[in-house]
Amino acid sequence: MYYQKTIENEISCVGIGLHSGQKVSLKILPAPPDTGIVFRRIDKGGVEIPAKALLVRKVDYATSLSRGETTVKTVEHLLATFYGLQVDNAYIELDTAEVPIMDGSAAPFVFLIEEAKIKVQDKPRPYLKILSSLFYEDNDKYIKVVPSDEFRITYFVSYDHALISEQTLTLPITPEIFKDQIAPARTFGFLYEVEELRRIGLTLGGSKDNAVVLDDNKILNDRLRFPNEFVRHKVLDLMGDLSLCGFQLQAHIYVRKGGHNLHTKMAQIIKESLSSQMVTFIDEDSMYKSTQPFA
Ligand SMILES: [Zn+2]
Repeated sequence: MYYQKTIENEISCVGIGLHSGQKVSLKILPAPPDTGIVFRRIDKGGVEIPAKALLVRKVDYATSLSRGETTVKTVEHLLATFYGLQVDNAYIELDTAEVPIMDGSAAPFVFLIEEAKIKVQDKPRPYLKILSSLFYEDNDKYIKVVPSDEFRITYFVSYDHALISEQTLTLPITPEIFKDQIAPARTFGFLYEVEELRRIGLTLGGSKDNAVVLDDNKILNDRLRFPNEFVRHKVLDLMGDLSLCGFQLQAHIYVRKGGHNLHTKMAQIIKESLSSQMVTFIDEDSMYKSTQPFA
């Protein structure tokens, strides 16, 4: 069996919010089995907001969760890290509304969680095995979830920019592959959008230090971390958003031109389809034996 995991020690860091530009302190603490990932706003008396699809509120440029009047924003990269490293249970304390953006990728969060040490708990982890396919489309965009013996993602992006153009990535997701191939991919944005986004109070903390910034024909950063860093970052966002379904998945996820709206809709659809799927426990020998790192 695969057992649930948390972290051994609490760990903290400070950073700034990508959209708010505000300084934020983040602390990650161990949590008992079956807790899931739970945010705590310590500046709001410790109000708890569990990472669940039902609490998704806003998905423009970042995923936010709300419970009553209390919100946590830009949760996707941190949630992707827990999901990717298969850490099931943790409390995340914030002293303001937005998770720090760090360097725009999930690599700093991977570092933090590994520093805090991953700890195996004494309860098996349930997986959701997809038996009946799910589909959601929005014009030329879609997301589908189909049965598979492994957790695999195939993602296609298309942008009207020579440096990105069309990129497709397909790969099985294991903690090792997540850490090496997905977590380091940074968020990205277009210079022509920045002025408008700032006018509506977004990306106030954004800079070349925490995003790949593109003008009409080049990137303003020194270099990319992968030639196809853009599609890799979309996979990172997808994992954070999909984690809101509350299960590690045994399924193949296909996305065409997705974003937070499409991803979080599917997390909700998965949640609502539980009676057609199978919640199962997995033998360590049977899982991932066919997976090869994506070249
Ligand atoms: Zn992102």
